Amino acid sequence: MVELNCKELSSSIYDSLKENTQKFVDKGNRAPGLAVVTVGDDDASRLYVKTKTEKASLLGYVSFQYFLNGDSREEEVISLIESLNDDDRVDGILLQLPLPAHLNEKRIIEHIRVDKDVDGFTALNIGRMAKGDECFIPCTPKGILTILSHFNIPTVGKRVTVIGRSDIVGKPLALLLMGKGYDATVSVANSKTKDLKALTLSSDIVISAVGKPMFLDSSYFSDGTVIIDVGINRINDPSRKRGWRTVGDVDRDSLQDRDVLLTPVPGGVGLMTVASLMENTFISRERRG
Ligand code: NAP
Repeated sequence: MVELNCKELSSSIYDSLKENTQKFVDKGNRAPGLAVVTVGDDDASRLYVKTKTEKASLLGYVSFQYFLNGDSREEEVISLIESLNDDDRVDGILLQLPLPAHLNEKRIIEHIRVDKDVDGFTALNIGRMAKGDECFIPCTPKGILTILSHFNIPTVGKRVTVIGRSDIVGKPLALLLMGKGYDATVSVANSKTKDLKALTLSSDIVISAVGKPMFLDSSYFSDGTVIIDVGINRINDPSRKRGWRTVGDVDRDSLQDRDVLLTPVPGGVGLMTVASLMENTFISRERRG
């Protein structure tokens, strides 16, 4: 097994974004602005938000953070988003998901103005992407495509299985990979799929976005397969001080002696998702002139 380590790749993206931001600001332009909205105080969400805002500041972006109470009403969240839509200092609006259960996530997301939708979640943005029009490529799919291109993994004419059909990972990723330029033959699996193993064993590339630890062991892969592990799962680990560790969907240890390429968790797709968000924010700033 060879690991497709994404630390260097994400660092090189940050280096060039930082340099480009500096050049952009030196020409007298306003720095890119990223607004992050969090509702409630979910621990994992707070950690993700901290990572994103710290990264934005390191790149020279201006970050705006908004914390709303977990019992906020839908109108309050929408009103904040609308004020950010009208705020000329803001190029990207990131609504940290998941939202508390009483809020309608889909309805709220649609209030983000499409030219500030750097996560690429709105229906209009996804529609534009499906048609190949100007859009923001959603961050996790974008990060995966960057991994494939950076490690020279061809997709044209290849058989790809995407496991999972969520709106933020599986569905947009499948659309992109089947599109012109990537030209892959894509199968998308869900929880009702029969004989998943037959699909993965006959695939050149397997991308797993299921969210179940150790879901895929070595028996699911043929030699030569490229495996992209999107899953982020916490499992108990008494040997760690905090009592848990993060693993992907793939049982990494079972693949140790196999001829496969695998993205690690942590250190793989997660790093690329944040890097892609920063890329999209810069793109938004440039587009807005
Ligand atoms: P999600 O909304 O939780 O959906 C999971 C998908 O897996 C569903 O489509 C589900 O099918 C499918 N599934 C469940 N059991 C299956 C089975 N036995 N066989 C085939 N498919 C099965 O997914 P998500 O939001 O995309 O997240 C997936 C994982 O990726 C999570 O661990 C999440 O934390 C992680 N993630 C990581 C990043 C990153 O940056 N690395 C970003 C986003 C998400 P049904 O539709 O039939 O239920």
